[in-house]
Amino acid sequence: MQSLFKFLLIASFVGALVASLGPALGFGFGFALALAAWIYGSARLARLARWLDDPEQPVPRGIGMWDDVFALLYRQRRAQQQQLQQVTNALLSFRRAAQALPEGVVTLTSDNHIVWCNANAAAMLGLKLHADTGSAITNLVRSPEFAGYLEHGDWSRPLALRLTRDGARLYSIQLVEYGEGQRLLLARDITQVDRLETMRRDFVANVSHELKTPLTVLAGFLETLAEHEDMPPEQTRHFLALMSDQAGRMRHLVEDLLTLSALEAGTDAPRDSRVELDPLMQRLAQAARSLSGGRHDIDFAVEPGVVLLGVEGEIASAFENLISNAIRYTPDGGRIAVRLAVPPAPDGQLPELLFSVADTGIGIAPQHIPRLTERFYRVDRGRSRETGGTGLGLAIVKHALSRHEAQLRIASEVGVGTTMTVAFPPERVARVRRLQPSSTNVT
Ligand code: ATP
Ligand code: MG
Repeated sequence: MQSLFKFLLIASFVGALVASLGPALGFGFGFALALAAWIYGSARLARLARWLDDPEQPVPRGIGMWDDVFALLYRQRRAQQQQLQQVTNALLSFRRAAQALPEGVVTLTSDNHIVWCNANAAAMLGLKLHADTGSAITNLVRSPEFAGYLEHGDWSRPLALRLTRDGARLYSIQLVEYGEGQRLLLARDITQVDRLETMRRDFVANVSHELKTPLTVLAGFLETLAEHEDMPPEQTRHFLALMSDQAGRMRHLVEDLLTLSALEAGTDAPRDSRVELDPLMQRLAQAARSLSGGRHDIDFAVEPGVVLLGVEGEIASAFENLISNAIRYTPDGGRIAVRLAVPPAPDGQLPELLFSVADTGIGIAPQHIPRLTERFYRVDRGRSRETGGTGLGLAIVKHALSRHEAQLRIASEVGVGTTMTVAFPPERVARVRRLQPSSTNVT
């Protein structure tokens, strides 16, 4: 409005001036004025074109309506730029969110070409973040199952895919359609879930199996006793002793299972209770000799005055398990050496407490050693069962020790013997009272 007013004012002034100059001069003046206006307009248009081409340059200025036009264009341009920035920020934020997802995410075209994928998807499926964009995913994830699922699978359910690249891992793959012909591929690593599920199934099967055998034996004896009321008392007593044996087996199994579940549920063992190891080792030595019944040469060497911070019942049960294994898996006449010591540590370090049980028994082949602490794992099922073993002993040892931040080290050679060593960290050792330079024998 203001510019229009200015324009009318100047036009009236110029009109009056031209009218006062006479026709010839007035025409010349009018022509010069029009030419100047045309040159100015062209120069402004050229500036405008340059600015549109490169908006980083300063906004052109002009007089009158030119200034209004430039200001309007500048405002529009600014609004456009802000909108573009907002859209770019939103896109980046979506990508960052998709990147941070624990799942693998791949966006695909309707014919399964990769548009984008996050780092997890790249790691799981073996894709290259930028280089593989635009490639068909079925050319990169080479699995007939995967290709079949993308082509004509039931996308309402995930596909469990074990990739040959590293067959050790299992992935759950699911395709979701969105927008027009766009696809989202979600990948989740379910190796651990699958492992736990297998362990749960095996556990139920093992418990049932271990209970079934003594129950069948018990039921058989009961039936025989019921059918033969006139059975001689001696034979009845023999049957009852065998039945009590089987019942004891079941009780032992249930007790072990309860111990294991209590240990698994717990966190670190408290450090405020003190376990005097001298009396504990005395008790263990007596129990060992009674279990062996004189069939082995058993030697205990214990550094006196050692106190451990932890739960006495758990430590006793772990030590007892290791000693009873040594006795059970060492043929008659073999040697079993139990040692407890806090050997001096290198300069500046605190000493750890070592408890070890070495036997001259049957030994364990190397391939079994990593699995020994699994629940129900036995090298030779038949032999363990003969000796009343259920394969829970070392699982209990492992959990009891891990609650005390202790480690179990196993060294063994088939036919030569086994040494199981438990190492407790210095923080668990409360007191070492060196009464004698050498160890004492516990009898
Ligand atoms: P239990 O639950 O009664 O302890 P178990 O002795 O069979 O039964 P673990 O103590 O867990 O179970 O031991 C697992 C397996 O490790 C045993 O079955 C045996 O095969 C092997 N093993 C353990 N200790 C020794 C050892 N000192 N010498 C040889 N084999 C051993
Ligand atoms: Mg055992």
